[in-house]
Amino acid sequence: MNEKTGLLWLHNDLRLHDSPSLQKASKYCDHLLVFYATYDFPVSRGQCYYFHDISSQRKRFLHETISDLQTGLQQLGNDLLFMDKASLKQLVRFIEHYDITDVFYSQTSDYNHNLRHRIIAQRLSYLRWHESATATLFADLPMLNLPKSFIPFRQHIEKNSYLLRQKVDLADTPIPYRLPTLPKAIDKSLFYFSEHFFKKGENFTGGETQALLHLKNYFASDAPSTYKTTRNSLDEWTHSTKFSAWLANGSLSVRSLLNVLRQYEKKVIANDSTYWIWFELLWREYFHWYADTHQKKLFLFKGTTSCKSMSCFYGERFERWKNGNTPYPIINACMNQLRATGYLSNRGRQLTANCFIHELGMDWRYGATYFEQQLIDYDVASNWGNWQYISRVGADPHGGRKFNLYQQTQTYDPEGTFIKRWQGQGNCRSIDSVDAADWPI
Ligand code: FAD
Repeated sequence: MNEKTGLLWLHNDLRLHDSPSLQKASKYCDHLLVFYATYDFPVSRGQCYYFHDISSQRKRFLHETISDLQTGLQQLGNDLLFMDKASLKQLVRFIEHYDITDVFYSQTSDYNHNLRHRIIAQRLSYLRWHESATATLFADLPMLNLPKSFIPFRQHIEKNSYLLRQKVDLADTPIPYRLPTLPKAIDKSLFYFSEHFFKKGENFTGGETQALLHLKNYFASDAPSTYKTTRNSLDEWTHSTKFSAWLANGSLSVRSLLNVLRQYEKKVIANDSTYWIWFELLWREYFHWYADTHQKKLFLFKGTTSCKSMSCFYGERFERWKNGNTPYPIINACMNQLRATGYLSNRGRQLTANCFIHELGMDWRYGATYFEQQLIDYDVASNWGNWQYISRVGADPHGGRKFNLYQQTQTYDPEGTFIKRWQGQGNCRSIDSVDAADWPI
């Protein structure tokens, strides 16, 4: 009988727990290669703003994640293979060289990654492909067509979904006891070599181990019971869940998270705040299916609408926005925080994106690309979906209202503590017509 050599091609599913693709591959194959790669910026987007490398914070978080995964895989009798900036040519050669017969992968709404899969499937038509859903609450779009905006999506799910009525936990795929071995004669340079030179982040440490620890600690605290009242805060660790970075690269399963939330509701308290965590997870889910539905349109200037936006690109404004050097102290503080930590609260993202589009008149795609480079929780669907929403070219074109940044500052940073902490005062006077002297802070 012919041997089956599997490739578990990882992308946003960097974990062992609740991983149907790992489980399938471990049952099906005689030998298994577990593989993760980074890729160059996708030129298919046709944008002018291009970055060669992700930010050091995003890189650190990623390398901590894959290093942790490698340790776990080694304990199961396998290892992690890694390629930096892999090209399609290298991928094809790699698959041919190791006589791979089956590819196991997780469903993703990442258009460019799916494109890679399609191209390889065309070139190597003998490969068998095995898809699993690991990134979302639902394995398929839970309705016939995706509604144009979030509210009907949520209403449909809350009315019809078994996820709400569920008495027992959602399926949580167990970790295999042992993995099939690697094929013989693996090129040693392919084994992931963990780089220890990264300075540790203040709060976010990458990897499944930390993700599960954070899950445990968060739900052992009182924070979930007050989430709704604190979630808009700009800077406090406990004021929002801080699960996004682990969810984004898949080191935490959203289904496991929902199980723990439901347990908390049963054992501790079920209130508006715990409901609101679910509500936000539904936004994540919505953007996933939005990206899946609209594919390449996620990156278009006019988004999924036929609107003509009036914005364009101004190099100097872009630099000043990125470097926290605008006339708006609150924006500067947010941008300084983003550069330093790779994280920004949801309020901070709303403010900076809003300012970028509606105050600075900039083409939203440049802002989205900059976030893609910087954010440790970068997720193609949530990032591009939210940017489209704010620029009114996406889900709900009537959403994304322009903010009054002065009022926002009064509401979310009345004492100026956040601005002070992240040095938002700067020394900028004005950007063209915007008069900085109007700014009392
Ligand atoms: P919490 O407030 O605790 O929310 C719980 C979880 O719900 C989050 O971890 C996240 O998975 C999900 N969630 C919350 N708000 C949203 C939202 N608006 N859209 C989608 N999912 C949401 N989130 C990302 O994960 N990756 C991104 O690249 C990303 N880019 C964004 C860009 C812009 C312009 C904006 C406005 C929002 C973006 N978000 C993104 C959504 C949101 O800001 C972050 O998920 C959130 O701030 C992460 O912190 P948290 O885990 O403490 O969130």
